[in-house]
Amino acid sequence: DGPHDAHARRNANGRPILPGGYGRSAYHVGRTPTYAVRGEGWRLWDDSGRELIDANGNFTTLIHGNAHPEIVEAAGRAISQGSAWGIPNLPEWDLAEAMISRLRGLGQIRFTNSGTEAVMSAIRIARAATGRDGIVMTKDGYHGSSDTVLLTSGPSRGVPSAVEKDVSLVPLNDIDELRRVFEASDETVAAIILDLLPNKAGLVGVDQQFAAEARALATKHGALLIIDEVISLRLSVGGLSGIYGIVPDLLTAGKVIGGGFAIGAVAGRDEVMDILDPWKPGSLAHSGTFSGNPVSVAAGAAALRLLTAEEIDRINALGDTARERASKELEPFGWEVRGRGSLFRAFPKGARKVAADLQQALWWAAYDRGVVLSSANLAALSTPMDASVVEDLTDRLIDAVAHVSAATS
Ligand code: PMP
Repeated sequence: DGPHDAHARRNANGRPILPGGYGRSAYHVGRTPTYAVRGEGWRLWDDSGRELIDANGNFTTLIHGNAHPEIVEAAGRAISQGSAWGIPNLPEWDLAEAMISRLRGLGQIRFTNSGTEAVMSAIRIARAATGRDGIVMTKDGYHGSSDTVLLTSGPSRGVPSAVEKDVSLVPLNDIDELRRVFEASDETVAAIILDLLPNKAGLVGVDQQFAAEARALATKHGALLIIDEVISLRLSVGGLSGIYGIVPDLLTAGKVIGGGFAIGAVAGRDEVMDILDPWKPGSLAHSGTFSGNPVSVAAGAAALRLLTAEEIDRINALGDTARERASKELEPFGWEVRGRGSLFRAFPKGARKVAADLQQALWWAAYDRGVVLSSANLAALSTPMDASVVEDLTDRLIDAVAHVSAATS
């Protein structure tokens, strides 16, 4: 129960009615929070009137920045005709088609309301399709907040211990351990789930070899490969799996595909996704009152239309330049900047996990210099940014890290 700001509404016991004063745990940055009040392009204004560079982008979601006119127009048009219906809507086909045309080898898709739900659904599909319960994950990744995937760092409060027996964790890029888990599994593995650029595990990419081995082992042992592209889909038209040239059985997406509105998706190969076909006896149900709602899918379709290969390449190149320069300039401080394409984050050199107080100190140092990072210090570029904005952002980030490193050494 830390410091609470003047905005916090309190109950009869004097407690903030949002626990801790927050509507999301991930807002917590260790001091009285600042509130967003308006965004435009790469700019964000907070309740103190400060203009900020929005490198958080709602945790990497806002790839076209805040309130992009074409997305506002598409969403506004959809809302003006009714925000959600209980019979199918036409815009859902447009986003489905856009997604399927981008994802090589995957023929069908269902929308959800979040990445969490997408991953939860993918795991259920894999378990139903294989008749098995086992899930293999890499250590310290993040795949949303459903029970099974909360166990990436071991037992998790509130997750029944019964869930643990079906989970195997493999250190990132440890091929021998990956093989051992599959060999020892006695064919009980339903799926292996991989994030090819896991932020929580230190924003170190999965090796091509490890990913290829996961693909081969899944096939060999009758398990499915789920690639979680909730964050990484922004890195190319076909996501990071497209760059790796690996076709998963199921792919989960979210964030950028909703144009800033709530969304998730699970796409998959026909043979797997057919299980959801209600025309078939014994099909697996997947619904959701707001799944595929016309507003999210219309905004998402507009966002994907704007997210051309050229635009992705442009912001990826801006990220490469930022990462390279920041790493060089931060070398004397013992820090480096890792990531890929339009995603980057500063770390003490070689560190995979960063203590919460250091993350919070860097968040505030960046904020004090006019930059909003995610609470885990991830920076995401957006298409309204040009080279000069990214250069400015990089300067500020370098200065913030230098300040933090001086304060902690
Ligand atoms: N998978 C990954 C790789 C994620 O990064 C996240 C969220 N950051 C999720 C799943 C969950 O998505 P959501 O927050 O939309 O539930």
